[in-house]
Amino acid sequence: KREEEAIQLDGLNVAQLKEIREKAEKFTFQTEVNRMMKLIINSLYRNKEIFLRELISNASDAIDKIRLLALTNSKELESNPELYIRIKADKENKVLHILDSGIGMTYQDLINNLGTIAKSGTADFLAKMQDPSKSEGQDLNDMIGQFGVGFYSAFLVADRVVVTTKHNDDKQYIWESDANSFSITEDPRGDTLKRGSIISLYLKDEAQDFLEEDTVRDLIRKYSQFINFPILMWSSKT
Ligand code: ADP
Ligand code: MG
Repeated sequence: KREEEAIQLDGLNVAQLKEIREKAEKFTFQTEVNRMMKLIINSLYRNKEIFLRELISNASDAIDKIRLLALTNSKELESNPELYIRIKADKENKVLHILDSGIGMTYQDLINNLGTIAKSGTADFLAKMQDPSKSEGQDLNDMIGQFGVGFYSAFLVADRVVVTTKHNDDKQYIWESDANSFSITEDPRGDTLKRGSIISLYLKDEAQDFLEEDTVRDLIRKYSQFINFPILMWSSKT
């Protein structure tokens, strides 16, 4: 079983990624999303580590959502009855994976949530950021939490983010972005995830420390003490 999970988590190699990129349907980020990403990257570079809090909280939300669905239809859980968050550092490929067995995302969810349709919070956040009298005294971290722009903080540490995701109502997809544009393609590996998502962060040179088990463990302890699910962490031997 352990081995099967390891295979599911395997990072895509460069050749596979290239092929996927060529075949994939390409999208541009909505203007507001673009501005938001630039803002996050430029203003939070000293607080890079918050990406992990944001991604763990998204994983936790995704698990809450499938649990809620299961209350009215217990079949929803059958695709994977186990609820968990896992983090794997792949030192060889310099990739950090955050996996959850939550609700996952359909093709349409990927487009809506990760790129094109700016959530109402985005515009409010930008307005507030650009008006110093309003944002004065408020911690940027708090603002990010309040407006829910968390996912894009992945680009603080990664120059490429790959989201592999499987929702009960759809096939498995790969969303991939270098922060300039994004693409979506059906996963050529098939439905290897029973249900849920893997956020794979191809770490920037200056963010390699997040491959260290101790660093990640400390951050999990710091940020995720109120998460109600087990967070398992392991790293490759290399
Ligand atoms: P927020 O969490 O405040 O909604 P984020 O930017 O952190 O904002 O995430 C945007 C959206 O992307 C989420 O609302 C959710 O719909 C989707 N999403 C992100 N991560 C996951 C995940 N691990 N599983 C399922 N959906 C996710
Ligand atoms: Mg979030």
